[in-house]
Amino acid sequence: MQKLVIATGNQKKLKEFERLLAPLGIEVLPQSAFNVPEAPEPHCTFLENALVKARNAARHTGLPALADDSGICVHALGGNPGVNSAYYAGSQKSDADNNAKLMADLRDVADRGAHYTAVLALVMREDDPEPIIAEGRWYGEVIDTPRGNGGFGYDPYFLDPEIGLTGAEMPIDQKGTRSHRGRAFAKLVIELTERLGVHDAGRA
Ligand code: IMP
Repeated sequence: MQKLVIATGNQKKLKEFERLLAPLGIEVLPQSAFNVPEAPEPHCTFLENALVKARNAARHTGLPALADDSGICVHALGGNPGVNSAYYAGSQKSDADNNAKLMADLRDVADRGAHYTAVLALVMREDDPEPIIAEGRWYGEVIDTPRGNGGFGYDPYFLDPEIGLTGAEMPIDQKGTRSHRGRAFAKLVIELTERLGVHDAGRA
């Protein structure tokens, strides 16, 4: 695999993937470079949505594609916004509106426990029968006052209590080691390496 399309229209997510993939020496291409239309995300699981996005990008580009479906699951809200994180406050997909709604929903709520989830799906071609799937979680809590200018989405309000920084306060490489996406990516690389290794050994 020499080229890989990243199936996202989210520029910040794309940056995180570029950073994570840099050591692998794979040419990373955004799906926007191929005018890939955004895939619908009709499903109630991160897994199904990630697969739809990856297959959509592979179909339109003819290249291997990596997709991520992710979101923040707030424990006191029964796991919401979850798969609907991008659209929590409406179809405009506004981070500011989503965070304002989250703050309103958590007013007077004492339990601030939350986790981000990311499911990654890597397909070698549109109809790949053996996609590589990897999941990662990042546990933390939702705070009332935003902190930091990095990251995206809910990051200014998501505190990682172990290191005392929000997702928006940590440098991108540190987020890559702590985050749901980074953890899922590490698992994906292990599985990919194993498959390629087995494949090469089988040919030897
Ligand atoms: P998706 O692109 O449909 O998977 O939507 C993911 C949404 O979940 C984003 O728009 C954010 O609102 C939220 N989200 C996922 N990952 C992160 C993250 O790393 N930081 C902050 N928000 C995130």
